Amino acid sequence: MQRLTGIGVSPGLVCGRAVILNQRAQVLRYRVPAERVTHELERLEQGRARARAQLQDIRASVARRRGPELASIFDAQLLMLDDPLLVPRAAELVRDQRVNAEWAVQQVFEEFGRVFDDIVDPYLRERKGDVADLVGRLKMNIRLGLATPRELLREVDEASVLIADELTPSLAAQVDWSKVRGFATDAGSRTYHTAILARSLEVPAVVGLHDASRLIQPGQLVVIDGTASELIIDPSDDVLARVARSASDTRATPAPAPHETAPAVTADGVRIRLDANIEFADDLAAARYAGAEGIGLYRSEFLMTGDASALDEQAQYETYRQMLEGMAPGPVTVRTFDVDEDQLALHAAGPTVAGGWVAEQERGSRQGLRGLRLSLTRPELFRTQLRALYRAARHGSLRILFPFVSGVEQVREARRMIGEVTAELVRQGERVPSVPIGVMIEIPAAAFTADLLAREVDFFTIGTNDLIQYCLAVDRADARVSQLYQPLHPSILRVIVMVRRAARRQGIPVSLCGEMASDPALLTLLVGLGLTEFSMTPGALPVAKRLLADIRHDDMQALARRVLKLATIEEIERELLNALGRFAV
Ligand code: PEP
Ligand code: MG
Repeated sequence: MQRLTGIGVSPGLVCGRAVILNQRAQVLRYRVPAERVTHELERLEQGRARARAQLQDIRASVARRRGPELASIFDAQLLMLDDPLLVPRAAELVRDQRVNAEWAVQQVFEEFGRVFDDIVDPYLRERKGDVADLVGRLKMNIRLGLATPRELLREVDEASVLIADELTPSLAAQVDWSKVRGFATDAGSRTYHTAILARSLEVPAVVGLHDASRLIQPGQLVVIDGTASELIIDPSDDVLARVARSASDTRATPAPAPHETAPAVTADGVRIRLDANIEFADDLAAARYAGAEGIGLYRSEFLMTGDASALDEQAQYETYRQMLEGMAPGPVTVRTFDVDEDQLALHAAGPTVAGGWVAEQERGSRQGLRGLRLSLTRPELFRTQLRALYRAARHGSLRILFPFVSGVEQVREARRMIGEVTAELVRQGERVPSVPIGVMIEIPAAAFTADLLAREVDFFTIGTNDLIQYCLAVDRADARVSQLYQPLHPSILRVIVMVRRAARRQGIPVSLCGEMASDPALLTLLVGLGLTEFSMTPGALPVAKRLLADIRHDDMQALARRVLKLATIEEIERELLNALGRFAV
């Protein structure tokens, strides 16, 4: 038995088998039952086969376009893929330690990494990047079809506890808390996020454990004691008896309250609109169940994770129609494709590399020909999407949203194309209703010209995920600066206020759909800053609704006024923490 002391942020006592989540490396580590080892080894082999097919495709296409010399770079990766120190070593770890395949591959990479770090020659040391690239591809291919932590957690047995390096609210929102009884994290400095979240979910939680996620083995029995701020590894019989007694005292595994259908209102009666962000039409049920009033963001580019036929006009029309009918009378905001050229090329290259699209999506900064800019240069693709959308429009309440807009010209050009498409549909005898057109405010240029853009569109949606990284010039994928990605930076709060004011002056609605909204503490501040519409991942909605019912709008306004005078992120966090005192640590 071993005890680790941290900070208890949500009371209660639970016991379960550890599932380890390494959020920074994007891998989940769990113990595989003996009868599933063969299945895990098959996943590893299938991952390798897919990676090999992709690399061969890439090599062939580079050879065609750039000649054989450049293509030979991929020979090295193909050779590494068959290196006995890589996949066979990972298979050994799966068999010996009974861990899942993606974690085994990650472990092997860390073993490799240590060898590379000791190399003096700078050229050779840099080859670590090639290995990282290959390992990333391998993990992605093993995960294929099991992309999100929620889906991965479905693979996990009942009665688990989650041990993570860190747990962001948006990730926590994807966890199935009916299976996961409690959580513990290494990180602890910014406890206000997790504290509020854990209490709202009513699961015991301890944070600030430093290296628990490394120390604890997947499948190990762990007790989380949120009341005593402790985590106990391999508990004694006495401790287990105490857990059993406490379980009979309290109700079993509390789950978040499902589908509260009443709209969200603050304690002093201010109505807040809560919509859902979804990636697939199938997520609609989850959105409705979680109490979403509408879909505030459908990331239509996820149609490209399927095969090419999903982009046919008829297939798109049917998808949009199904969503509009499924959500009626609530609105569905379809964002036109937000991809860049590389993602589009990967999709066009066919199903063997479709997984690469998801990896590209996870890549941090994408500042090139992307979003509406790309759509305007691919008129066929864009027209097909617009035709499908306008045909579907009469089946519900549709809103069309353009991503990655940096200027008024782009909106005018897109509107011109809409004019052409709708005229064509009318000529073909279609009934074409009017559809509100909006833009994402996610590039600083759009935020600074929000007053001008507001005259051209019917609504704004603030995309803080991109806005923060471009405002602060921080590539989240770059570990050396990723800690500078701070939603509470004074510049971000000011930019939000500026956009909100521009929208209000022009009388158009503005919502916020970045991950910032799914963090309960930040949500309260955003309400104070004057926002009344949010869209977030469905899992975050019940918590948001409950929290909003507990706070007063006028208190949040006063908080926002104080916060806007503060100069540093630390001061802002402290102020927020004080204001939310009764929820916080
Ligand atoms: C955003 O940028 O905040 C956003 C919601 O868009 P995405 O995360 O899809 O880039
Ligand atoms: Mg974005």
